[in-house]
Amino acid sequence: MQLRRYRVPADGRFRLRDYDSADCGGIQSKEEASKLLQRGVERLSELQDKLYAEDRWSILLILQAMDAAGKDSAIKHVMSGVNPQGCSVVSFKQPSNEELDHDYLWRTTKALPERGRIGIFNRSYYEETLVVRVHRELLERQKLPPSLITKRVWEERFGDINRFEHHLTRNGYVVLKVFLHVSKEEQRRRFLARLDDPRKLWKFSESDVAERRFWKDYQAAYQDAIRQTSTAHAPWYVVPADHKWFSRLVIAEILVDALEDLKVAYPKIDPAKRKALAQLRATLK
Ligand code: ATP
Ligand code: MG
Repeated sequence: MQLRRYRVPADGRFRLRDYDSADCGGIQSKEEASKLLQRGVERLSELQDKLYAEDRWSILLILQAMDAAGKDSAIKHVMSGVNPQGCSVVSFKQPSNEELDHDYLWRTTKALPERGRIGIFNRSYYEETLVVRVHRELLERQKLPPSLITKRVWEERFGDINRFEHHLTRNGYVVLKVFLHVSKEEQRRRFLARLDDPRKLWKFSESDVAERRFWKDYQAAYQDAIRQTSTAHAPWYVVPADHKWFSRLVIAEILVDALEDLKVAYPKIDPAKRKALAQLRATLK
């Protein structure tokens, strides 16, 4: 797979309309995709075992998307082969009072994965430049000193996020950011499917339908956030999400590719330790 097609260059020129939400990367069918995903999941499992054993690096995968783009099901499928001990998934919703009593990176920082783990953020501090930008009144409720809320607030947030992510990468995190790119029409179909299927009805939320009125504002906010924060150290991937089976495949590939780049391996044992182990082995025998 040509992952480069979905990786946003760090040149500050990103335009969402250059990315097709219905792209399937030349894969013909769901069946073909499912076989490829199976292989990806197995490879991910092997690499994750080494990541854990090495205990040096950690992977932070940030998932952002409009409602019903498939974040939850991507997590379920992509991580299906991974040892639960080696990963964490944290969802970020409207901030609590305690969270609003701190800076906006506080809650996400507390939830970062430990070394050797894969951590998934289902939404993240990027919401601070997305939903909070679209619904400006949310910013007013953040208890910030008014003199600090200036016209440059979003620019400042992008700058702070870029530096924060740089700090993470200098400390052993690999930061991968995914925008699941779904079309407005496909979102409509999925909301209808939720209404029609009793097994999906619990996922339906009236406010999701209301948020569709702000679709354009969200797309503009996403475009700007991705443009300003796709960096060499923490790239964004715009993953086509009109076909869920394809987005899962791309996400699995992003993780496998990152782990392969790290060249994770089981720790080597030095000769002295090896000798000691040989003695223990003899004792056990
Ligand atoms: P689902 O796909 O199941 O709907 P979800 O991630 O949308 O999952 P919800 O509980 O529906 O989960 O919604 C979480 C909501 O919290 C989102 O609308 C998101 O924009 C909002 N949110 C997240 N972070 C913040 C924030 N910092 N400030 C305000 N709202 C936030
Ligand atoms: Mg929702």
